[in-house]
Amino acid sequence: MTDVVEGPRPASEIASYHAHVYYDPATTRGEAERLRQWIGERFSVTLGRWHDVKVGPHDQAMYQVAFAREVFAELVPWLMLNHGSLSVLVHPNTVNPRRDHLDDPLWIGPPLAIHGDKLPEHDEAEAPLPPNTEPHLRA
Ligand code: ZN
Repeated sequence: MTDVVEGPRPASEIASYHAHVYYDPATTRGEAERLRQWIGERFSVTLGRWHDVKVGPHDQAMYQVAFAREVFAELVPWLMLNHGSLSVLVHPNTVNPRRDHLDDPLWIGPPLAIHGDKLPEHDEAEAPLPPNTEPHLRA
């Protein structure tokens, strides 16, 4: 019998990232709109559509910001400073969406519930989407 020593997972497992920006349609949608505009003016990302009602594993209204690995080092610290009262979930996209959302994400602002039962444990890792922003301001 041989011991199998597992090394650390390589960061190359990460095909891309999402940031989910949560808001309350009744009270913080304006703040979420302002943050979305700021992001679009500064970062090459893919802004997803507004979900004013809960969707998928998410427990609050939100929109998604999809971005490539190269964008992480600029965008995520900027979100730490500029999320205001909003909660933001940043998760990697690997072949295991459930683990990406539940075990391996980071939260900016107060963590919220995630409904892991609505996420598969195996899927194709999401490659970066074509950006739909035209950044022209310095972050
Ligand atoms: Zn996501």
